[in-house]
Amino acid sequence: QPIIQIKNVTKTFQTRENRVEALKNINLEINKGDIYGIIGMSGAGKSTLVRCLNFLEKPTGGTVLIEGQDLSACTDKELRKVRNSVAMIFQHFNLLMQRTVLDNVCFSLEILGMKKKEAREKARDLLKIVDLEAKADAYPAQLSGGQKQRVAIARSLAMNPKILLCDEATSALDPTTTRSILALLKDINQKFGITIVIITHEMGVVQEICSHVAIIDNGELAETGTVEEVFSAP
Ligand code: ADP
Ligand code: ADP
Repeated sequence: QPIIQIKNVTKTFQTRENRVEALKNINLEINKGDIYGIIGMSGAGKSTLVRCLNFLEKPTGGTVLIEGQDLSACTDKELRKVRNSVAMIFQHFNLLMQRTVLDNVCFSLEILGMKKKEAREKARDLLKIVDLEAKADAYPAQLSGGQKQRVAIARSLAMNPKILLCDEATSALDPTTTRSILALLKDINQKFGITIVIITHEMGVVQEICSHVAIIDNGELAETGTVEEVFSAP
């Protein structure tokens, strides 16, 4: 059974001025352990699609199933549990600027109910995984973009997610840093078996680490398949 099933999903935004069909009848399955790229131009609907996977957006029609569980049929309590298994990182990192690197990671653990001392130990372990132990006491403003994204990744791992959603996570980074972050994501995928979904407008990112790719165009799924199938010349 695929870990993510998207069935006939539509999403319509109705504003005062107009109506935008951001997603039109999307069907997509993502298997456990995949690194799945979702590529398309700005405004194509990539963010909306991925936000439907953790119910930051609620589809207008259709269903999303995570590990076979229909999110629209979940109670609030069940939904909170599913959400904890779906982590997300962003283009602009979304770190707490007034807290140290260690505290940024601790904060997530304490929200999950972990005691302070235990949280600090676990946070140090997580910083080790992203190779940023040395910066534990620094503040985000003192870090490079790549280092900030490593903190965000460490924080996302705090909830032991089964799925990691990456929304343009390397778009603010230079090519060399991008490559190092992609290598880290691959490492996490292999080490922990976390399924990774990567939204990007950059073909190179997909070709570098994705196993599968979906091309989304104007709210519709234009093509899906393995990276070889989709990108190899006819
Ligand atoms: P992408 O991530 O591919 O750039 P988005 O999913 O952000 O695309 O947006 C898809 C379409 O939906 C765009 O036309 C965008 O303007 C519209 N849209 C996204 N969020 C909202 C919203 N909250 N209200 C109205 N329109 C929205
Ligand atoms: P080892 O046994 O080699 O020390 P672990 O598998 O215990 O390695 O993992 C090391 C750290 O990674 C621990 O802090 C652990 O909590 C964390 N960890 C383990 N599995 C996951 C996972 N699926 N997602 C995020 N962090 C994890």
